Amino acid sequence: MNYNDSVRKIKGVGEKAENYLHKLDIFQVGDLLEHYPRDYDEFKELVPISELQEGKVMAVEGVLRRKPTVKNTSNLKIITAFLEDETGVIQITWFNMPFLMNQLRLGTRYIMRGKIGRHNGKLVLEQPKLYSKNEFYKKVGKMLPIYPLTAGLTNHQMTKVIQTALSECEGILEFLPQEIRKRNDLVGYKKAVQDIHFPKNRVDFIKARKRLVFDELFLYQAIRFQNDQKSCHVMIQKKEVEEFVENLPFALTGAQRRVYDEILTDLSGGCVMNRLVQGDVGSGKTVVAVLALYLTVCNGSQGAFMVPTEVLALQHYASLQNMLGVLGVRVGLLTGSLTAKQKREGKEKLASGEWNIVVGTHAILQDNVEFQDLALVITDEQHRFGVRQREVLSEKGEAPHILAMSATPIPRTLALVLYGDMDLSVMDELPANRLPIKNCVVGTDYRPNAYRFMKEQIEKGHQVYIICPMVEENEDVELESVALYTEQLRQIFHGTAVVDSLHGKMKPAQKNEVMERFGAGETDILVSTTVIEVGIDVPNATVMMIENAERFGLAGLHQLRGRVGRGEAQSYCILMYGNDTKEGKERLSILASSNDGFHIAREDLRLRGQGDFFGVLQSGDKLFKLADIYEDAKLLQAANEEAKRYDFLEIRRFYARNRRLSEKLEHYMGKVSL
Ligand code: ADP
Ligand code: MG
Repeated sequence: MNYNDSVRKIKGVGEKAENYLHKLDIFQVGDLLEHYPRDYDEFKELVPISELQEGKVMAVEGVLRRKPTVKNTSNLKIITAFLEDETGVIQITWFNMPFLMNQLRLGTRYIMRGKIGRHNGKLVLEQPKLYSKNEFYKKVGKMLPIYPLTAGLTNHQMTKVIQTALSECEGILEFLPQEIRKRNDLVGYKKAVQDIHFPKNRVDFIKARKRLVFDELFLYQAIRFQNDQKSCHVMIQKKEVEEFVENLPFALTGAQRRVYDEILTDLSGGCVMNRLVQGDVGSGKTVVAVLALYLTVCNGSQGAFMVPTEVLALQHYASLQNMLGVLGVRVGLLTGSLTAKQKREGKEKLASGEWNIVVGTHAILQDNVEFQDLALVITDEQHRFGVRQREVLSEKGEAPHILAMSATPIPRTLALVLYGDMDLSVMDELPANRLPIKNCVVGTDYRPNAYRFMKEQIEKGHQVYIICPMVEENEDVELESVALYTEQLRQIFHGTAVVDSLHGKMKPAQKNEVMERFGAGETDILVSTTVIEVGIDVPNATVMMIENAERFGLAGLHQLRGRVGRGEAQSYCILMYGNDTKEGKERLSILASSNDGFHIAREDLRLRGQGDFFGVLQSGDKLFKLADIYEDAKLLQAANEEAKRYDFLEIRRFYARNRRLSEKLEHYMGKVSL
């Protein structure tokens, strides 16, 4: 019998059982073997009666002291008995098992195992099974599988069928080379399949699970390498870039240096780069992007820098002009709010190669935008873009290198899965001149204190952000609208501070003006909705106050907070809740106790669960049967590293040793490409 045979081939599976199995999506023997237990019933040692715990399945040994009684209700026959050991007595109940009355003997010793319930305030052993000493000790230490079932099919039947299939199936062949198993301390495939169903003990179970989880993750990671393409833009390091680094007003952080080196290795390596840079807010990703763009230009090609908002496009454009313009690099801007004439001219300059670098929004994606020689595409705030957009941009050149940057702190493990096809660089270091942001979580009655504090900061020459969640008059009375709020602030800070506001309904040009004034220090307080969430960099701002903070997700709050703490001065974040639910407070306290985006992302994931993230990847069906990318973070990393060691053809050959898995690989390849 083999994996691909119908379950009907298994001894004891008739038409009826087959139909039940179909309901569980089990058609072939292989499906059945991968129908893993959802839990195990661990057969533990005997417990003294005085130590029984409600809700658990436990075994006791004792003597039957009183004569069992039977009670007949309309549809139940209930037997009640009492078992006694040196430590106490426990009541036992059996439903609808009248035949037991003939078996139970007064004064005889029994081993019974069942669930401990409670009845009239007392512990009760419910529906226990009886064991002889011999039978019982044979099972101790074992873990009995508990399977996902469907109505009509019992766990006992399922266990039997799987047992038979395991002993009859001949195709459970090893496919991983021994070196991989050795390096990662993995048991053989056949043993793992056997033990995941019927582990003799906990250790065997853990080993079996580890092996099968590794398999799932390795298979997934292997797919990353299916499209390693040769590049026609192989670059070399240029001394101009090194000089540029030396002339920066600051020294690069170790993380910036390392990530740039990784990028350089990719760009000069001969294959098309496909790399995601994950950096916490304020870690200085822009400079790294600038280095990569400058290198591209020094190698005679063009680069594109795509960002999700006009405000951010303008900010990046200005800083690129500032840094590279003086070196003779021609930087252009392409956004939706330019005039038709400006756009036309920009496109001409891109097509002719007059512009070396273009910074822009989605406008760069339009059909009629052409490049002379596009070699590098960078997307900032990657999470704001769809995968499709990344693709469109890469079609504008001849397989340009792709560099995606994201500050949404997805835990590393999750990034490996969500961006499974990309290499990952992590910037986990802030520039040395930064002081950790000081946080506080407060109620609305703290507002006057907050305003007083802001006044002090403004007097010291610093600037302030205040976030209100909603724009204009909203039905929801709890939410302060930006307009109203701004008016109030102007009165409160009359004569002491200039207050301005920014919201999503403004035209891009208006937004740019507001941001320019704030960036230039003409405005002291900027009242805003979350439009400033991504990317804005005004290092002189030191206070971020977020109203109704409980309404935001942790990741969003962390992003908002990241607008301060970008310079040398001490910065502050005031998280104000309008509505203090316990859950909301718990979330805010996570934020208050840490400024580390990766830590916060892990907590966010813990609170929300994996489900949300998998929703991103595919709707409905679970990606892995056993693996939990959160729990199995280390194995995901290991599988990733192993998959990197081999080229894709080699990995395919591993899988070819096992037909079922080989088919799976092909199936995944079609499904997973993001
Ligand atoms: P993010 O990673 O959030 O995009 P930015 O690239 O906007 O961060 O950088 C934040 C601020 O830190 C900018 O003002 C930038 O000039 C500054 N910066 C970047 N790298 C360093 C460094 N190595 N030392 C000091 N300041 C730096
Ligand atoms: Mg940024």
